[in-house]
Amino acid sequence: MSAPRLEIRLDHIEHNASTLVARLGVRGIAVTGVTKATLGSPEVAAAMLRGGVAGLGDSRIENIEALRNAGIEGPMTLIRSPMLSQVDRVVAAADASLNTELTVIDALAAAAARSGRRHGIVLMVELGDLREGLLPADLGAAVECTLGSPDLELLGLGTNLACQSGVVPDERNMAELSSAARWMEATFGVDLRIVSGGNSANLDWAAASSTVGRVNDLRIGEALLLGREPLHRRPIRGLRTDAFTLVAEVIESKTKPSSAWGAFGETAFGPPGETSDRGDTARALLAVGRQDVDPAGLVPPPGLTVLGASSDHLVLDAGAAGPPVGSEICFQLGYGALLAAMTSPFVGRDFRSGPSGEREELPTRH
Ligand SMILES: *Cc1c(COP(=O)(O)O)cnc(C)c1O
Repeated sequence: MSAPRLEIRLDHIEHNASTLVARLGVRGIAVTGVTKATLGSPEVAAAMLRGGVAGLGDSRIENIEALRNAGIEGPMTLIRSPMLSQVDRVVAAADASLNTELTVIDALAAAAARSGRRHGIVLMVELGDLREGLLPADLGAAVECTLGSPDLELLGLGTNLACQSGVVPDERNMAELSSAARWMEATFGVDLRIVSGGNSANLDWAAASSTVGRVNDLRIGEALLLGREPLHRRPIRGLRTDAFTLVAEVIESKTKPSSAWGAFGETAFGPPGETSDRGDTARALLAVGRQDVDPAGLVPPPGLTVLGASSDHLVLDAGAAGPPVGSEICFQLGYGALLAAMTSPFVGRDFRSGPSGEREELPTRH
């Protein structure tokens, strides 16, 4: 297969899903599998569903439409507040969305009425991370707005932490979420089906807290895909961290001086990095660059060091002996690097369902 490409072990993603589904299930929490870092890959979504996730979430309507078109079944939630310009597409493709603006909720109601499809609303409350969310004092008005439309269903309440400001989900803010949910139920006489506590950053809280209160859903992406929690990027016990591998090809391999020479200006991407003179070293040039991946998020195999990257080249220090031209080098990826690689049109995808390279083909729907 051509390079660069991502080798994607769907069996590892399924394993991560079933492990977390079981672990959180004991605490009464269901998993919504978040596909956004995979550009809404139907293969990855299917692996998450085989692992037992209760539904799927993505932040872009294009990705949800792609999942629907590929024949993926199951509840799908748009996990970013819908754009006013997209409400008709949102109602058509997603079962529910996370919401913070009354104008948008009104527009979703109108779109639902036009299409004859009921749309689920999960209200998002701001608990300190300062990305999306209604301030707690404004929740009541949003509930009334939602209940006012026969074409909307008030599904529940959610919050999102750790994304914008790094605020850690803990006993205090999660208890605040639970009491907001209880207040909504008592005040408006509704039953909230979903109380969605957050993302992969909530896993430590879910494992350690004495009670999870009313929280019965987490929206999980990174932990399912990369087996790590995002607060400290530590591997999660029992999960696979190697479901994704980036493979790139060597196009030049030479022994060169380790220190650049000449007069210095800026590089293609800003000020030059430090170079130290270590004599001659083997350098390998790979046909992969910033148009494919975030080089800072690449973990090379032992013995190789990433020296830098421009649009289309990655430069490696290869130690004593460089890899031959035409050979392939495998990298592990961080979240940002995965997101970029899945989004680049230059990076191929090789889906595998096991170690010996069984290829996974999704049946296409007509
Ligand atoms: C991206 C996102 C998630 C998933 O986050 P992970 O850290 O990948 O688990 C959950 N909820 C919202 C609102 C998101 O935008």
